[in-house]
Amino acid sequence: MTSKQLDAALTRTFEAARWADSHGQPTCPKCFDAEDVRVVTQPSRPQVCRGAVPSYHCTCCLRYFASTYDTPLQQTKIPLACWACVVLAGRPGSLYEASQAWGITRKALYAMLRKLEPDHPFIGRWRQALKRAGITAEQCHRHAVKEGA
Ligand SMILES: [Zn+2]
Repeated sequence: MTSKQLDAALTRTFEAARWADSHGQPTCPKCFDAEDVRVVTQPSRPQVCRGAVPSYHCTCCLRYFASTYDTPLQQTKIPLACWACVVLAGRPGSLYEASQAWGITRKALYAMLRKLEPDHPFIGRWRQALKRAGITAEQCHRHAVKEGA
């Protein structure tokens, strides 16, 4: 799998878990409309664009939203590959060893683990979708390191 394919697979699995009720179809969080939602390719509001995480615009209520909205990843600046790595690998025994092995600073890792409650329904769904797509923690780790996360 190339970096581009992995990025696409990460986004696809994330959105399938995020919008499980609509089978991965982005839905406006305000008016719950799906028909008028457009992906933002040239973001007029760059602050809602986070790397591989797509942003959307609802042409009905004019709201902009990222697919991370209303998930534990809301407002994150950490790449999706890093999150996927932690979601797949589970809670580490040692924060120090995990930060060394995964190439994530201890501070960032601590913040991520605090947000990733293991029994959060979204996290469980994403983990399943990642596994179904054949994505491994090791793959995500290599990808995240290359991105300079
Ligand atoms: Zn809307």
